[in-house]
Order: sequence, then C-alpha cells, then structure tokens
Amino acid sequence: MANNKKNGDVGELEVIKLVPCPNCGKKLMTLPTGYPLYDVQCTGCSFRAQVKTNNSKPKAIIFGAGWEIMNKVLKSGFITPPLLANFKWIEGKTRKQEIRFYPFVPKKNLKKHKLSEKARRANYWMFNYIDLDKLPYFEVYYHGEKKHSIGKIKVTDIYHGDYDFIGKK
Ligand SMILES: [Zn+2]
Repeated sequence: MANNKKNGDVGELEVIKLVPCPNCGKKLMTLPTGYPLYDVQCTGCSFRAQVKTNNSKPKAIIFGAGWEIMNKVLKSGFITPPLLANFKWIEGKTRKQEIRFYPFVPKKNLKKHKLSEKARRANYWMFNYIDLDKLPYFEVYYHGEKKHSIGKIKVTDIYHGDYDFIGKK
C-alpha cells in the first residue's frame, strides 16, 4: 500500500507536468493528499479528475480506491469522477507512456471487491475500474513509437501529447 501511495503521488506529478487541462488548456495542479475522490484540478476552470497510475501497458482493469466513499457519492446521485489513467511500461529497451482521459466512467464500470483477512486493511472494500477497453477516451499523452498500417504501408509515428479521441467502435 505504501508503494501504491508513492506510485500514485509520482503519477499525479507526471500528469500535471505532461497534461494540460482537457477543457481549457491551462495547467493542472494536485489536490492535497486525502482530498476525497479527486487528485488533480485545473488552475483556470472547474475541471477535476481522479488519477490512477499503472506500471503496465494500457489495460482494461485497474485498481480504483476505497469503495465506501465512492459508494456514498454514487448513492447521493453524483457521478463517478473523470479518470486520468497513466500507464508506463518498457517495451524492449524503450520506455513508453500513455495517459488516457476517460471523461465519463459509468457506474457499471466500477466493481467492488473485498480485501482478504490477511491484507493490511483486512476485509476493506475496494473497487476496480473494469472494461476500460470498452469506454471512449482521449489519448492526452503518448511517449514512444507507434506502429500502425495504412493500407499495406507500415507507418511509425513519434507521438508527443496529441489529443486523439478514441471512440467505442
Ligand atoms: Zn481548465
């Protein structure tokens, strides 16, 4: 958990360094540790988001947070905070990073689970984000090489912070 926490803080600092506000383009800033639900906010508008950092390729299931507070928020009729998912991994000898912005995460994409009796926070209810591969997102940062094909020609692009909207197909 201590490692996750540290990982999280580093991830938040990366996000505010690499990603401008998806709404107005101004700089994002971190919120104080322990601030409920949100990790970053915009210095220029009311944009706020949760940040989750993973040392892996982009994937469909990632760790969320404590279920209690999220459940209360949802039960009060609020919606899940927007999510900035920060993925970092090594491919061959290349360091890669992709930050995805999910403007809306429906309730059904949160799945609660209970920590085991042996966990530090025994029997604590957490949630995961699930089926992220089925949700539309903005790619707000990419570092590394991308290979894709146009017709029969292989193309390699060097990306650096393009805003691609990847909709559900
Ligand atoms: Zn803004």
